Amino acid sequence: MRCRTAEQYISQKLDDELKPKHAASLARHLEHCSSCKAFLADTRRLQSSLQDAPLPEYPSWMHQRIMHNLPQAKARFWGFKPAYSFASAGLAIAFSLYIGALTGIRGYQESGYFSQSTGGQSIQLSFGENSLMEMYDE
Ligand SMILES: [Zn+2]
Repeated sequence: MRCRTAEQYISQKLDDELKPKHAASLARHLEHCSSCKAFLADTRRLQSSLQDAPLPEYPSWMHQRIMHNLPQAKARFWGFKPAYSFASAGLAIAFSLYIGALTGIRGYQESGYFSQSTGGQSIQLSFGENSLMEMYDE
């Protein structure tokens, strides 16, 4: 085995990724190669010192700065919402006008505004509140 291959295996071994079939050949190489043995020792020391190192503490302003620099989402949804409310308000207004017109037409018909007396010649011109009040007066 060449030393370059052995160094790859040593790295894999320290990461617990070395395959068992390579572990035996690496052990055989380490028995007679002092430079690879030294590399293994150095790498072990480096790994353990890295594992013992404390996690870096982030400055307190880091979170604020990241959140401040995030791209702002455009409020597209809120732009469409008023249009929908206007549409429903318009529908409600149109419906109430329709209902009002229907009610008015019926009321005038019952009060005799559209009724014709004597063969369609004259049209009675009393309607609404006035006609009702006249009826009570009589
Ligand atoms: Zn070697």
